[in-house]
Amino acid sequence: MKLRPVETVIDGVTIAGACQGPKNVVESINSALSAAIKSYSFVSNETLLVEPLVAEIDSEACTWCGACEEMCEFDAITKETVNGKEVAKVNFSICKGCGQCLPICEPNAIQLKNFSDEEVEGMIDVLANEL
Ligand code: SF4
Ligand code: SF4
Repeated sequence: MKLRPVETVIDGVTIAGACQGPKNVVESINSALSAAIKSYSFVSNETLLVEPLVAEIDSEACTWCGACEEMCEFDAITKETVNGKEVAKVNFSICKGCGQCLPICEPNAIQLKNFSDEEVEGMIDVLANEL
Protein backbone atom coordinates (compact mmCIF):
# COMPACT_ATOMS: atom_id res chain seq x y z
CA MET A 1 0.00 0.00 0.00
CA LYS A 2 2.86 2.40 0.73
CA LEU A 3 4.85 1.70 -2.43
CA ARG A 4 1.97 1.29 -4.91
CA PRO A 5 -0.99 2.93 -3.19
CA VAL A 6 -3.41 2.98 -6.15
CA GLU A 7 -2.41 -0.24 -7.92
CA THR A 8 -4.00 -3.67 -7.67
CA VAL A 9 -2.71 -7.16 -8.46
CA ILE A 10 -4.05 -6.69 -12.00
CA ASP A 11 -1.87 -4.37 -14.07
CA GLY A 12 -3.86 -1.39 -15.33
CA VAL A 13 -6.61 -1.71 -12.73
CA THR A 14 -6.29 1.03 -10.16
CA ILE A 15 -8.33 2.02 -7.13
CA ALA A 16 -8.86 5.37 -5.47
CA GLY A 17 -10.82 7.15 -2.78
CA ALA A 18 -13.04 5.35 -0.28
CA CYS A 19 -12.55 1.90 -1.85
CA GLN A 20 -9.01 1.98 -0.40
CA GLY A 21 -10.25 2.91 3.06
CA PRO A 22 -11.64 5.91 4.95
CA LYS A 23 -10.44 9.18 3.37
CA ASN A 24 -11.28 12.86 3.48
CA VAL A 25 -12.03 14.83 0.31
CA VAL A 26 -8.47 16.05 -0.28
CA GLU A 27 -7.01 12.56 0.14
CA SER A 28 -9.69 11.13 -2.17
CA ILE A 29 -8.94 13.67 -4.89
CA ASN A 30 -5.20 13.06 -4.62
CA SER A 31 -5.60 9.29 -4.88
CA ALA A 32 -8.00 9.71 -7.82
CA LEU A 33 -5.46 11.87 -9.68
CA SER A 34 -2.75 9.32 -8.94
CA ALA A 35 -4.94 6.44 -10.15
CA ALA A 36 -5.87 8.32 -13.33
CA ILE A 37 -2.22 9.05 -14.16
CA LYS A 38 -1.23 5.46 -13.47
CA SER A 39 -4.02 4.10 -15.69
CA TYR A 40 -3.13 6.59 -18.42
CA SER A 41 0.44 5.30 -18.41
CA PHE A 42 -0.98 1.92 -19.50
CA VAL A 43 -3.48 3.04 -22.14
CA SER A 44 -1.17 5.68 -23.67
CA ASN A 45 1.29 3.01 -24.82
CA GLU A 46 0.77 1.48 -28.25
CA THR A 47 1.79 -1.90 -26.94
CA LEU A 48 1.23 -3.58 -23.60
CA LEU A 49 4.27 -5.27 -22.11
CA VAL A 50 3.37 -8.42 -20.20
CA GLU A 51 5.30 -10.76 -17.96
CA PRO A 52 7.54 -13.12 -19.99
CA LEU A 53 6.96 -15.90 -17.45
CA VAL A 54 3.34 -16.92 -17.87
CA ALA A 55 1.48 -20.20 -17.70
CA GLU A 56 0.58 -22.02 -20.93
CA ILE A 57 -2.09 -24.67 -21.36
CA ASP A 58 -1.61 -27.75 -23.51
CA SER A 59 -5.16 -28.00 -24.84
CA GLU A 60 -4.51 -31.57 -26.04
CA ALA A 61 -3.75 -32.72 -22.49
CA CYS A 62 -6.26 -30.53 -20.61
CA THR A 63 -9.45 -32.30 -19.59
CA TRP A 64 -11.10 -29.20 -18.06
CA CYS A 65 -11.43 -30.20 -14.43
CA GLY A 66 -11.42 -26.53 -13.34
CA ALA A 67 -8.81 -27.09 -10.60
CA CYS A 68 -6.39 -24.51 -12.01
CA GLU A 69 -9.15 -21.92 -12.33
CA GLU A 70 -9.96 -22.35 -8.62
CA MET A 71 -6.27 -22.23 -7.66
CA CYS A 72 -5.40 -19.01 -9.52
CA GLU A 73 -5.65 -16.07 -7.11
CA PHE A 74 -5.47 -13.63 -9.99
CA ASP A 75 -8.47 -15.00 -11.95
CA ALA A 76 -6.19 -15.45 -14.95
CA ILE A 77 -7.70 -18.79 -16.02
CA THR A 78 -11.02 -19.23 -17.79
CA LYS A 79 -12.68 -21.94 -19.82
CA GLU A 80 -12.72 -21.93 -23.62
CA THR A 81 -13.85 -24.33 -26.28
CA VAL A 82 -11.22 -25.58 -28.74
CA ASN A 83 -12.46 -27.85 -31.55
CA GLY A 84 -15.55 -28.71 -29.50
CA LYS A 85 -13.50 -29.56 -26.38
CA GLU A 86 -13.63 -27.53 -23.16
CA VAL A 87 -10.15 -26.57 -22.00
CA ALA A 88 -8.51 -24.01 -19.73
CA LYS A 89 -7.23 -20.73 -21.15
CA VAL A 90 -4.71 -18.35 -19.55
CA ASN A 91 -5.13 -14.60 -19.91
CA PHE A 92 -1.49 -13.56 -20.42
CA SER A 93 -2.16 -9.94 -19.47
CA ILE A 94 -3.31 -11.04 -16.00
CA CYS A 95 -1.11 -14.08 -15.29
CA LYS A 96 1.74 -13.32 -12.87
CA GLY A 97 3.69 -16.50 -13.53
CA CYS A 98 3.48 -17.51 -9.87
CA GLY A 99 3.25 -21.20 -10.83
CA GLN A 100 0.57 -22.12 -8.30
CA CYS A 101 -1.63 -23.70 -10.96
CA LEU A 102 1.10 -26.10 -12.18
CA PRO A 103 1.21 -28.77 -9.46
CA ILE A 104 -2.59 -28.97 -9.18
CA CYS A 105 -2.98 -30.20 -12.77
CA GLU A 106 -3.19 -33.99 -12.79
CA PRO A 107 -2.60 -34.50 -16.54
CA ASN A 108 0.34 -32.04 -16.36
CA ALA A 109 -1.24 -29.80 -18.99
CA ILE A 110 0.22 -26.53 -17.66
CA GLN A 111 3.80 -25.30 -18.08
CA LEU A 112 5.46 -21.97 -17.34
CA LYS A 113 6.90 -20.40 -20.48
CA ASN A 114 10.70 -20.65 -20.41
CA PHE A 115 10.47 -22.77 -17.22
CA SER A 116 9.03 -26.03 -18.49
CA ASP A 117 9.59 -29.26 -16.57
CA GLU A 118 12.30 -30.25 -19.09
CA GLU A 119 14.13 -26.93 -18.70
CA VAL A 120 14.03 -27.05 -14.89
CA GLU A 121 15.08 -30.71 -14.85
CA GLY A 122 17.93 -29.83 -17.25
CA MET A 123 19.13 -27.11 -14.86
CA ILE A 124 18.99 -29.54 -11.93
CA ASP A 125 20.97 -32.13 -13.91
CA VAL A 126 23.68 -29.57 -14.75
CA LEU A 127 23.87 -28.45 -11.13
CA ALA A 128 24.03 -32.06 -9.89
CA ASN A 129 26.79 -32.88 -12.40
CA GLU A 130 28.84 -29.86 -11.32
CA LEU A 131 28.57 -30.89 -7.67
S1 SF4 B 1 -6.00 -28.30 -13.89
FE1 SF4 B 1 -5.15 -29.08 -15.83
S2 SF4 B 1 -6.74 -30.46 -16.63
FE2 SF4 B 1 -7.72 -29.18 -15.06
S3 SF4 B 1 -8.59 -27.44 -16.23
FE3 SF4 B 1 -6.55 -26.82 -15.52
S4 SF4 B 1 -5.17 -27.33 -17.24
FE4 SF4 B 1 -7.07 -28.44 -17.57
S1 SF4 C 1 0.90 -18.97 -13.04
FE1 SF4 C 1 -0.17 -18.05 -11.26
S2 SF4 C 1 -1.16 -16.21 -12.09
FE2 SF4 C 1 -0.62 -17.49 -13.85
S3 SF4 C 1 -2.44 -18.70 -14.27
FE3 SF4 C 1 -1.15 -19.94 -12.90
S4 SF4 C 1 -1.86 -19.46 -10.81
FE4 SF4 C 1 -2.68 -17.87 -12.19
